[in-house]
Amino acid sequence: MTTYAAPRTVAEAVALLAATPGAALVAGGTDLVVGVRSGKQGWPGALVAIHGVEELCGIEEPVGGGLRLGALVTHDELAGHAAVRRHFAALADASAIVGSPATRGTGTVGGNLANASPAMELGSPLLVHGAEVELAGPAGTRRIAVSAFLAGPGRTTARPGELVVAVHLPAPGDPGAPGAPAGPGAAGSAYVRLQYRRAMEIAVVGAAALVTLADDGTVSAARVALTAVASTCVEVPGLAAALAGRAPTDEAIAAAAALAAATATPISDVRASDAYRLAQVPVAVRRALAAAVARARGDHAAAPIPSSNQWSP
Ligand SMILES: Cc1cc2nc3c(=O)[nH]c(=O)nc-3n(C[C@H](O)[C@H](O)[C@H](O)COP(=O)(O)OP(=O)(O)OC[C@H]3O[C@@H](n4cnc5c(N)ncnc54)[C@H](O)[C@@H]3O)c2cc1C
Repeated sequence: MTTYAAPRTVAEAVALLAATPGAALVAGGTDLVVGVRSGKQGWPGALVAIHGVEELCGIEEPVGGGLRLGALVTHDELAGHAAVRRHFAALADASAIVGSPATRGTGTVGGNLANASPAMELGSPLLVHGAEVELAGPAGTRRIAVSAFLAGPGRTTARPGELVVAVHLPAPGDPGAPGAPAGPGAAGSAYVRLQYRRAMEIAVVGAAALVTLADDGTVSAARVALTAVASTCVEVPGLAAALAGRAPTDEAIAAAAALAAATATPISDVRASDAYRLAQVPVAVRRALAAAVARARGDHAAAPIPSSNQWSP
């Protein structure tokens, strides 16, 4: 039998997890409940349902820039939020293509991260934006980089009894704000996934890119992360060095995309062979980089989300 408790505060949730060995958190339930119903996992001995914890809700814009996303923020909230769309467009791109309208209205940031699927939509956008996860547990609260939180398929470095409270995003440059001050540069980001259908699909291959342009139009910073081509979402090392100081020409972007492909270690499964995934990595990276550059220039380009019949190198 599974017991059920619905705490109203983070402190209550932490206390319940500590007092109930084997308890599992449930937020929107779109991974957990679907996993149980499909036979992938059994019901946990106890459910701690956090959907009523006010402290975990909402998107805040702290003084000094950046964003704080409560763990219960849904994909719909992310995709529709003005500051997310303007400053963290890769995240809005990713949230906008999760599942169906029902999935996006129910599934949460905390659930997506804690479920830690290698094909999770938010992983790569959060990596390129340098996001940190805020955790609360019996020993108090702590913050760690998303790159240190994601440990493998279905695995994170959360300690026993810890829950995700929020995700923190540092401020990138602002490409489009009227009268934007001169600063470290104008930034743009984008997320692209290869999908076989237009909806209710998960990534066969995905890529997120964040590009910052200097006043002279050359690249001053760049980050790329890959989805569904390793045991978890991973940032491509050395990518910034490949692009920094160069004009973001088609040739420079193609060279960076080839570098990214060299770091991918995809597996074969029912959805694609390792060879097919590997061949598509540079395509995804090229498209993500090109869209990020366009956005950094102030062109609020729509995210390129091709289905497989539009997907050729
Ligand atoms: C039809 C369908 C389509 C989908 N399509 C996509 C897709 O395109 N892309 C994609 O990435 N995902 C997709 N998903 C998966 C899912 O919707 C997302 O991962 C969603 O964000 C999960 O959030 P949730 O709140 O529903 O998680 P839950 O199911 O409530 O929880 C998932 C896991 O996280 C744990 N958890 C939840 N909240 C916390 C917390 N605050 N702290 C610590 N642990 C926590 C739970 O214990 C559980 O292990 C799809 C799911 C369905 C059913």
